Parts: sequence; structure tokens; C-alpha cells
Amino acid sequence: MMNANDVIGAVWSPDDGRVGPSDLCAALVKGARSRGAKIFEHCGVTGIKTRRDRVIGVETSAGEIDCEAIAICTGLWSRENAAMAGVEVPVWPCEHFYLLTNPIDGITGNLPTLSDHDSHLYIRDDSGGLLVGCFEPVGKAIDPAQIGKDFAFQLLPEDWGHFEPMLENAMHRLPCLADADIRMLLNGPESFTPDGSFLLGESAETSGLFLGCGMNSVGVATGGGAGMALAHCIVHGHTPTDLYEADPKRYPSCFNSVAALTARAPEILGTHYAIHYPGIQLKTARNLKLTPLHSRWQDHRAHFGQFFGWERPLYFDRQHEPELCFDKPAWFEQVAREVGYAHAAAAIFDQSSFGKIRVSGSDAERFLNRVCCNNMTRSPGRAIYTAMLNSRGGYESDLTALRLSTDEYRLYVGSSAIRRDFAWLRRHLEPGEQVEVTDVTDDHAVLGLMGPKTAEMAAQLGVPELNQLGYFEFCDTVIAEVSVQAALRWRSGLGNQLRGTPGRSAV
Ligand SMILES: Cc1cc2nc3c(=O)[nH]c(=O)nc-3n(C[C@H](O)[C@H](O)[C@H](O)COP(=O)(O)OP(=O)(O)OC[C@H]3O[C@@H](n4cnc5c(N)ncnc54)[C@H](O)[C@@H]3O)c2cc1C
Repeated sequence: MMNANDVIGAVWSPDDGRVGPSDLCAALVKGARSRGAKIFEHCGVTGIKTRRDRVIGVETSAGEIDCEAIAICTGLWSRENAAMAGVEVPVWPCEHFYLLTNPIDGITGNLPTLSDHDSHLYIRDDSGGLLVGCFEPVGKAIDPAQIGKDFAFQLLPEDWGHFEPMLENAMHRLPCLADADIRMLLNGPESFTPDGSFLLGESAETSGLFLGCGMNSVGVATGGGAGMALAHCIVHGHTPTDLYEADPKRYPSCFNSVAALTARAPEILGTHYAIHYPGIQLKTARNLKLTPLHSRWQDHRAHFGQFFGWERPLYFDRQHEPELCFDKPAWFEQVAREVGYAHAAAAIFDQSSFGKIRVSGSDAERFLNRVCCNNMTRSPGRAIYTAMLNSRGGYESDLTALRLSTDEYRLYVGSSAIRRDFAWLRRHLEPGEQVEVTDVTDDHAVLGLMGPKTAEMAAQLGVPELNQLGYFEFCDTVIAEVSVQAALRWRSGLGNQLRGTPGRSAV
């Protein structure tokens, strides 16, 4: 019978390479200097100067420099450094371990690097001995304050208790380790982000403040490409390719708390070698943002997924923790039933996690006509589906706007797009324009009612006037003593889609 630790196959990647980090840095410094860059060592940034949410300069221990752009590439100190400009950077360090042995007979150098993800290990030769590193299932977070600001060319203390299970795995895989002389257990801090991808691009809060940090243990391997993409972003105003998964604007504020970060960072370290099954959900830093109907969904045994910090039902009637696989998922039957109900009758979709932005003021219409590609000059009571495009004709956002009055619109944007879209709108305001842009996401819940029987249901609910609505029209009404704005998004073979936004009273 096969044992969980048996090897049944391996992949050899002959083109894999290896670099010494200090040699790599020296080469980058040489290249940058030869192209005119100035490098100041032993010089700390002590402050960031901003005016009207724009970078205008940097204060350092050697004096001030006026500038239009700053890139914060300061590893685990990036959260604290970015805060000098009012920018949230959710990164938190964990301790990262590798063991070094004295020379071992037969280790001749330049052997392939061995990655054994099931055992959470990477192993390679080092100075005639072996280097055994790990991405253990649960990492060990460390407070940056404990590390200190002057930590450089130093190591953290050894922790054999934490490393021992990995050492056992390593000795099972490479029995020669049992007789090897241990030189040291090296321990260094590295920063991790809430989703394991780094932050690369301009911050949401401050124009000209760029981020290149949160490297999640791959900063050396990815540094060249990340640096190139960051430089492109600073020079051209956008990344060279779609790097949405690294966009710093993808995080809600709730991930920036110490509690969320200290819970999440160790889990993220553990996912480095884990299999990323479809439907996988992280376990820590949950329940950060709940929709008003959360407890109702719990009553229906919802299985929740986290999006932009929100807990959203993925399916109902959950019987147990779903077993993850690449095959037919464990929740297939539940979802099939829900789809069946929506096709045959109607279903409610909790879309409260949508981002909502209030755009108001006497120039609101003129402003939105400039940044959106649809005609926003519609009468109050109309809903408008539109896109915001960039100068290259690419999509920045697609959104639905409700025109609430002559000088007020409410925009509904993607759940995880709110920070990006909010920043995009604010940055396109012209001086003197009478427009106020406000994030009102938490003020309104959103429910979608979809399916062929929605009209019948509207009548039963005592709001037959909803059935008089034309396409992309909305009206104010009251359902179950809750005041709502109900909009008709579309009518199709499937029936109506009524989208209501219960006001504050529903929340
Ligand atoms: C044990 C260990 C093994 C690793 N192995 C690998 C590997 O095999 N492959 C890989 O790709 N990655 C590896 N990594 C991860 C890699 O080292 C990091 O991802 C990378 O060093 C991060 O680079 P960085 O420039 O973002 O941050 P850092 O290397 O931490 O550099 C940040 C710099 O900013 C400076 N700084 C901070 N605050 C200020 C301020 N206010 N003013 C001026 N300067 C400031 C700091 O002094 C520091 O020099 C490993 C990490 C560890 C700990």
C-alpha cells in the first residue's frame, strides 16, 4: 500500500536557475548607477510630503528632496513607511527558516533544487552541504516593532521547536541528513500579504505614491520583473500588462488591522506550497465584513466565501466542510438545485457587497459624462449601465448608475473594485469642479430578485408598481416596511431582474 510520504513521480526542470541575492543586488546597483541613478546608503526616509493627496517630496535623514513620485520598496517596514503618506499597506512579517549543514560527502555543488511541497520543503546544495528550507503549514508571525527599524544584515533567533516537524520530513526524504553536522538554523523575517500576492502599483489614497512590497518570499525570484513593471507604472501611469492581482487597491481597509494581519500572514506562508484547489477559502481573518442578512444566510446553512473582506454565501444547505478537489465539486448538487429554482421560479441574490459611490454636486452630470462612456444625461429615476475607460480604450470599470436627482447619482461598482474606481473618479476631478465623490458602500444593502416569477412575486409582496417599471428605470417604494429603491435591470426569457437597494433602515 502507498504511504503518504512515498514518491510516485517528479518533475525535473533543467532550466531552473539560482542567484546569490547580494550579487544580484550589486549587479542591479551597478546597472542603475551606469544609467545615472544616485544611490544613498545609510540614509533613512523619515517623512513623506503630500499636498492635496499628491506626493510632493520626501524627508530623509540627509535632507529633503522634492519629487512627484516615490516607490515604497521597504519590505516589512512598508506598512509603517506608507502610513507616513496616509496609505494603507497590509503586509506583516513572518519568520522564515532554513537549516544549513556542514559539507556532506557526495554533495558536489550545482545540484538541482529539490522542492517537496507535500513535505513543505525545499532543499539545495550550499557550500558542499545542504540547505533545507520550509514553508510550514502555519507560519510564525512577528511584530515589526520586535524586529526594530535598524534591523539589517542580522538574523532572528533559532526556533528548533517550530522547525522540528519539517526537519523530520527532511530526514525522511533525504536520510543522509540524519548523520549531517548542522551548521545553523537560519531565521530571517519576510513580509506576507492577505492573499499571498504582492503590492505593485500606485496607491489608492495618494497620487504619486507607488508600492513595490509584500513579496511573500519570492522577492528575489520575481524582483526583476516586478521592478520592471513598477518602473513602467511610474513612467507611463499604468502597468505594462494587466496586473490586477498585484494592484494595491484590491484590499479593503479591514485587512490592514494588526489583528487581521497577524492571523492571516501565517496562513498565507502555509499556502505557499499548498495545492490551490478551485473553491479554496482561507480560514483566518474571516467575518470582517458582513451583509445585513448574514445571520439569515447562516440559518440556511450558507457556505461563505470571502470577497474584498465581505462574507458572501457561495451556496446554501452546507452539510459539512466541503472536500476540495479538481473533479466534480462537493457542492454540485446544492448549486444545481439553486440554479433550478432561479430558472423555474425566482431567486434572491445578496449583492450588498457591491461598492457604492455617491457623486453629487452641480457639476455631477458634466463630470460623469466626461469619465463614463454612456450618456449620463438621463432624467432622475433612470438607471444607466456604463463603463469607465482609460486613454488606451481599456476598461477601468463597468458600473450601474442611478440618477437620484438633478445633482446626485449613486454608482454601483464591483465588490472588489470600489477602491480602484473611487480613486479613478477622484483623480479625474478638475480643479474648481463642483462635485463631491463619497464612498457610501456601507450605507446600502442590495438584493437582486431574478427569475420568471418575479412579476408575480412583486404583486404578492404588495408592490405591483414594480411591474410598471420600464427597462433601466427605478422607483422608491416600501417592501415589508423597509424603504427601497427598486430598479428593473433587464427583462429576458428568464423573466425580470428586479434589483432593490434597501435604504439605511434595512441595514
Ligand atoms: C530566510 C529567507 C530565505 C529567502 N529565500 C528566498 C528565495 O529563495 N527566493 C526568493 O525569491 N526570495 C527569498 N526570500 C525572500 C526575499 O529575501 C524577499 O522577498 C526580498 O528580500 C524582499 O525584498 P524587498 O526589497 O521587498 O525588501 P527587503 O529586502 O526587506 O528590503 C527593504 C529595505 O528597505 C529598507 N528600509 C526600511 N525602511 C526604510 C526607510 N524608512 N528609509 C530607507 N530605507 C528603509 C530596509 O533597511 C531594507 O534594506 C527569502 C527570505 C528569507 C528571510
